[in-house]
Amino acid sequence: MAQANTKEVTPIKLTVDASDTGRAIFWASQTFPVDGHDGQIALTLAKWLPAYHAPRGAIDRLAGLDFRVAGQSCRWRRDPDNPYRILVDLPEGAVLLEAAHQSLSPTQSNQGRIMVSDEILRFHWEECLLYPSDQPIDNILIEPALRLPEGWNWACALGEANEQQAAAETSLLHFAPVDVRTLIDCPVLAGIHAHRETLDKDVGLLIVADREDQLPQGTEELECHRRLIAEADALFGHRPFGKYHFLMACSDQVGRMGLEHESCSEEGVRATYFSNWQSSTTERDLLPHEYVHAWVGKFRVPSGNYQSDFSRMTNELMWVYEGLTQYYGHVLAARCGLISPKLTREAFALIFATYDNRPGRKWRPLADTDNDPIFTAREVQPWQSWQRSEDYYSEGLLIWLEADTIIRRGTDGKRSLDDLMRSFFAPEASGGDERRRRPEPYGREQLIEALETLYDHDWTGFFASRVDGVAPHAPYAGIENSGYRLIWQGSPSGWQADDQTHHSYFDFSYSLGLKMGLGAKVLDVLWDGPAFKAGMVKGMEVLSVGGVSYSHAAMQDALDLLPDEGGQVELVVKRLDSVKTLSLECPCGQRYPALEEQGDGPRLLDDILRSRAGT
Ligand SMILES: [Zn+2]
Repeated sequence: MAQANTKEVTPIKLTVDASDTGRAIFWASQTFPVDGHDGQIALTLAKWLPAYHAPRGAIDRLAGLDFRVAGQSCRWRRDPDNPYRILVDLPEGAVLLEAAHQSLSPTQSNQGRIMVSDEILRFHWEECLLYPSDQPIDNILIEPALRLPEGWNWACALGEANEQQAAAETSLLHFAPVDVRTLIDCPVLAGIHAHRETLDKDVGLLIVADREDQLPQGTEELECHRRLIAEADALFGHRPFGKYHFLMACSDQVGRMGLEHESCSEEGVRATYFSNWQSSTTERDLLPHEYVHAWVGKFRVPSGNYQSDFSRMTNELMWVYEGLTQYYGHVLAARCGLISPKLTREAFALIFATYDNRPGRKWRPLADTDNDPIFTAREVQPWQSWQRSEDYYSEGLLIWLEADTIIRRGTDGKRSLDDLMRSFFAPEASGGDERRRRPEPYGREQLIEALETLYDHDWTGFFASRVDGVAPHAPYAGIENSGYRLIWQGSPSGWQADDQTHHSYFDFSYSLGLKMGLGAKVLDVLWDGPAFKAGMVKGMEVLSVGGVSYSHAAMQDALDLLPDEGGQVELVVKRLDSVKTLSLECPCGQRYPALEEQGDGPRLLDDILRSRAGT
């Protein structure tokens, strides 16, 4: 949070009616003090949104612009050099500019992530907020108000006593004026079916769901989330925020998501996250991941990510921002019991195998994948394994596992990466001030310095080779150092079976070099693998395998019949109008990755995943 200079600043009023959930339209009105503006004011919508790492502000959804001074309509036009800037003509002597506009939220998923249903509402202030583009965002004050559907429960990190039900007569919520940066970091979650949980006196969890029976019924599931807070405290020692809110939607209607903020986070999981707890395993590192971001990414933020306004940003150090967060997301999930150590090891095996099978690292350094949010916006790519896709998350995890094991081995277990989390990402506030803290930007040199202080090692060279260089294989040393090795087995691990169900795929990556989706569709083809060499591409339909109509079981049978040294699998495939018979040279039968204990040394991974909080 940045402290706005409140002296002499008249707030811009922003009132949004978000109760039109049936049409997913946010109706906004704003008033701008324009005294002193000479004939024109330049307004802007936020373009570079921090957690998106991309110029993804919702300018395309802004509609119905109407500007008036004293009831008289004002002309506006767009800045040809920057379509996020709106130039509004002002009559002489104008004091107050009134604006009305709408933000048109997606009504079906091909327009973007669905944020509004008849039961759930996710509201992001920045979609409705125009502000002067020529002033520092920390000095612009906004006085926000929001109308919610009557009787809905809601939560928002703005203000203190803000968790309550929007009563019929007070469904218009008024908040105290805040600066633009803070407002944009405080989204609202609301819903008609809601469960409110106190995880800690300062940490709240609001859960909304499509239906009442999808809210948590048991206590054990919530107990794990409570232990998460205790484990994070044991890890970091200090909190950079005063109060924190998890804004969680269990829904198959509004979009899945995970978005970090300084004092809250937004989680969108499957509707059955709680109601079918046994099978939600692979989603359970989401809350730990977003919570870790309060320290890694929000409080300690890469310098290029932290700018004076939202008109620009440099993506950098994503292997820290997301890679270290991915690592500790999994580690904390294991420490607090959300995911068992066994499933965590299975997750690490799948991560290593997946990334080791992506030949894109032979030409593209990991650091260059920092640009992927800008390039692809997570849209499907034709050759993901060759293009790479935000690999800094999971390959980053492998790098940090290795760093952790190097420190642990080099110091006989006296120190670990946990010490870096305390010293660098959660230093004690001077004067013992434990309230919400101003972000502290950092660069790579400072991070390396902190690591060197912790354990004397060539960290500059360590990251240069893994992050800036190209290599044929994914980092494996962390797995080996931690007392395990990768093995192949004939059936998927529990983690992978859940992952396949969750993402609706069947993994033939490690035999045929392809993944099948629902309905016999090819979901992915690994660059340079057997399917690639035979001419297969993503999106093909497989009509038959070995002369039998395609099914995942038929494919599995065909692979199981192959001798150990491999053989040929014949597929009839269809792409566009063309049907072809292809012969795939498969080097081995069907196989899946797992970890196996190796050697007599200490199982560092077991120790890494062990609870620290003693809860
Ligand atoms: Zn993240």
